[in-house]
Amino acid sequence: MNIYGITRENLEKYFVSINEKKFKALQIFEWLYQKRENDIEKFSNIKKEIRDKIKNDFSFNLPTIIKKEIDTDVEKFLFLLEDGEKIEAVLMRHNYGLSVCVSSEVGCNMGCKFCESGRLKKVRNLKSYEMVGQILAIEKEIKERINSVVIMGIGEPLDNYDNVIDFIKIINDPKGISIGARHITLSTCGLIPKMDLLSELNIQINLAISLHAPNDELRSQIMPINKVYHLNELIKAIKNYIAKTNRRVTIEYVLLKGINDKIEHAYELANLLKGMNVYVNLIPYNETNHLEFQKSDKKSIDLFYQTLQKEKINVTVRKEFGSNISAACGQLRSKEV
Ligand code: SF4
Repeated sequence: MNIYGITRENLEKYFVSINEKKFKALQIFEWLYQKRENDIEKFSNIKKEIRDKIKNDFSFNLPTIIKKEIDTDVEKFLFLLEDGEKIEAVLMRHNYGLSVCVSSEVGCNMGCKFCESGRLKKVRNLKSYEMVGQILAIEKEIKERINSVVIMGIGEPLDNYDNVIDFIKIINDPKGISIGARHITLSTCGLIPKMDLLSELNIQINLAISLHAPNDELRSQIMPINKVYHLNELIKAIKNYIAKTNRRVTIEYVLLKGINDKIEHAYELANLLKGMNVYVNLIPYNETNHLEFQKSDKKSIDLFYQTLQKEKINVTVRKEFGSNISAACGQLRSKEV
């Protein structure tokens, strides 16, 4: 087992199981996350025999950065995992701090047509330590601390629910990486049963829904998951999530030229979302070498935005960056090609 995948609560259970006091878990967390110390021999308040036992039971490895590409305000990292699989994560420099977009799976089974990340079928889930490791390895590389995390890289996070929830607990733990829940965003294409589970957890993270179409016909064409969970069920699940958590939900809408960017789509979307505590994030599509979709022109983006505004829907257009190094949304890959 890797130490970076264990929540404080489970580490307490581990210490109890070896007849040690559970506060040792807190001491270990302080070394790992507050001091960012990776060498257990330096854990000076932990007795040698316990250090030896921990060393025997846990590994301390972080994923290895094997490539780094830099664009304005963005750095993309390619990681090699212990079994030889590769994933990517992206660091973004905002005026409010540093954020990292982490991957949650090797590949993705959701098959969204416009997404480069989903071109490779899911090979496996990432373990929670491999997600925590993306953050710590990047921090080590850049010698700066990360302020916010978006789970929006390769993979559908709710299709790897248990690992993702442990990851969130570790990074959100005030004695762990200590990233506030409101600085953590989980993006899903809408796995309704898992959204319902998440709403029961009472964690104040931000939820973003990849909606991308205002009706079933169009959504099913570009997002196969819609054939399993239809739009009306998804909207109901979002309403339920808002009611339970009292949190505003983000609606992600990638604008694809000639497909979902017409003015009638904007009206349809406004109608669908009317009265809900949501805001819409319009994403100008990031073109890739492999896929047939194109970015909407500026006029269509502006008109879509203005129509939603006129219909009293909270809306923003996402700042574009990272596309020069294929680090933008939907451009991350599991394999270097
Ligand atoms: S958009 Fe997300 S859920 Fe859809 S294929 Fe890409 S990575 Fe998977």
